Amino acid sequence: MAIEKRFHSFLSSNTIVFIILFISSSFIIIYTIPPLNNIAVELSFDEDNAYIYLQEQLDLNTTHYRIPGTMGREDCAQYFVSKFQAINVNFSRTMQNFTVHSTDCQNVLFKLNEHKKNIVIFGAHYDSRAKATKDPDLDKRASPVPGANDGASGSAVLIELARILYQEKENLNCQVWFLFFDAEDQGKDSGGYGIEGWDWCEGSKKFTQDIHAFYNSSEEKIECMILLDMVGGNNLQFISEQYSTSSLLDELFDIGHGLGYIYEFPSIRSSRAVLDDHYYFVELGIPSANMIINFWNNPNWPYHHTVKDDNTTVFSHSLGVTGRTIEQFVYNNYLITAANSYQGNHPWYFDLNALDSEIMIILVVISISIIMLMIFQYLKNQKGSKRTFELLKQST
Ligand SMILES: [Zn+2]
Repeated sequence: MAIEKRFHSFLSSNTIVFIILFISSSFIIIYTIPPLNNIAVELSFDEDNAYIYLQEQLDLNTTHYRIPGTMGREDCAQYFVSKFQAINVNFSRTMQNFTVHSTDCQNVLFKLNEHKKNIVIFGAHYDSRAKATKDPDLDKRASPVPGANDGASGSAVLIELARILYQEKENLNCQVWFLFFDAEDQGKDSGGYGIEGWDWCEGSKKFTQDIHAFYNSSEEKIECMILLDMVGGNNLQFISEQYSTSSLLDELFDIGHGLGYIYEFPSIRSSRAVLDDHYYFVELGIPSANMIINFWNNPNWPYHHTVKDDNTTVFSHSLGVTGRTIEQFVYNNYLITAANSYQGNHPWYFDLNALDSEIMIILVVISISIIMLMIFQYLKNQKGSKRTFELLKQST
């Protein structure tokens, strides 16, 4: 009897140790997968060009900023058209008109290599926020945000990417979309609405509702969507954004790290789920990643939704880091001459972020089971020793 009991407690304690080892080793395996190696290729993204494109968008502010429903917003859409026409007069473009609370809005889409089957989308919002609702100076909270980082930076990187990828288009085995969203940044934050009653990401919501109008889903496939939001600030450092498809975002971190951008793509990252333009693509099942910074509590760039989000708090190097990382991503995965030499995470189906909640539930269930097992074992031992004691007492 005593031997059997000892065997049972040995078995149960070993089971617990086994379960703990299994869980911890699974996590160690997931987090110690070696980083991916970039293919050797010369990058040509020019950060000084990108900075000029950022400044040119800010120059439109002298009239109306780039606020939905204003001439400034219309001028900005036309500015993109002129930049893409300068790359090639026949650059394919589509303007998607829609309204938000009766205000005319417009997403702008340019396509490269339209004959290729696999589509890669690079997106950014181009509207600037109508009110600096988080400005520490309360008197400035009704003023518009210049939107140097929040708006113009991502759009500037897209234009420079279009210029360089156009030169490589014959060598790419993919179609590339450059997608400029209107009406992303007017929702309600801690200081109120950008525009009264508006939600965030109105433009991307509308685009994804009508996405089948922009391509032939029986012949073409959208492989991924990468969003650039606030990629030009001083002290650029990307976060682990939680709606993003983890295998895609992790790959971008590996690529940036491989290019030497250790500070910008840190191993230990801030983490947050941010409702942004990539969200509606994730909802459609398209692997998507948001390249975004800590904008809620960042002593290195505390200008989010303030009037200081201007050209004194952005930095061409940040645009270069972002642009070169994306350029390398395209070559790693889609350069015809480099076919099969890059072992990345394509097609980016694995998503630890989506699994997060399920993993937590499993861990909670396992933990509760272990605790119950231990309590049960303890009670059984207590009962057993009490009985043995009584038997011994009777026999004496
Ligand atoms: Zn914003």
